[in-house]
Amino acid sequence: MSAQRRSQKPLRIGLFGGTFDPIHNGHLAVARAARRRLGLDRVYFIPCGRPPHKDRPGLSPYLHRFTMVALACTGEAAFLPSLLEAGPDLGGRRRYYSVETVRRMRRRFEPPVQLYFLMGADSFLYLPRWKDFRRLIRLCDFLVADRPGYRLDRAGKVLPPDLGARRVQGTALRLPHCTIHFLHRVHMDISATQIRRAARRGRSLRGRVPSLVADYIHQMALYRRER
Ligand code: ATP
Repeated sequence: MSAQRRSQKPLRIGLFGGTFDPIHNGHLAVARAARRRLGLDRVYFIPCGRPPHKDRPGLSPYLHRFTMVALACTGEAAFLPSLLEAGPDLGGRRRYYSVETVRRMRRRFEPPVQLYFLMGADSFLYLPRWKDFRRLIRLCDFLVADRPGYRLDRAGKVLPPDLGARRVQGTALRLPHCTIHFLHRVHMDISATQIRRAARRGRSLRGRVPSLVADYIHQMALYRRER
């Protein structure tokens, strides 16, 4: 590592994984608020191949989900679509676990780099059940955004007590090797499920997804049939 790089401030990178079927304004609101709160230099949106935590029949092909993520990042210089879970043939057929993805992302950068895993409050509830959870929380910090129907003030109870999490000023939990930041007041009552339902019924998606994504859904006739 060069002396110049070592003396630099760490690069602050957000990783936002999801099925993104489709990506929507709720995701983008979380990413923008996280950038402001944590001073992130970039946020990578990482559509999963086969979802490890959410096997849903009828998941749209990886190519469509990735394309919509790329369209949503257009015009936001700090937002980047990532092929990290595309797999060797770019078909999104493999199942990747976050612990592996975070490790692979870390290897792409010369230190110093600080990684933040972004997620919604609903995903956070299941975090302790993720593969190699204890290893994962040593690799990155987390940012958990509130979501209608989920209470962030209960979030500390989700973690096993032996981790010794301490609450810091109501906005974070500090663990020996990682900090979990909480992002209150995002409160975007939008889900991909609602959007697929609206598209199926031929309703407008305006205000719920970026207009380029709405056009793509329309032009490719996505979500038209019950799957
Ligand atoms: P679906 O309705 O198909 O279950 P979703 O809207 O939850 O999808 P995902 O792609 O599964 O979208 O979510 C990726 C990540 O974004 C998850 O961590 C989820 O908690 C978070 N997320 C999604 N929508 C919101 C929202 N409106 N506010 C905060 N976090 C969100």
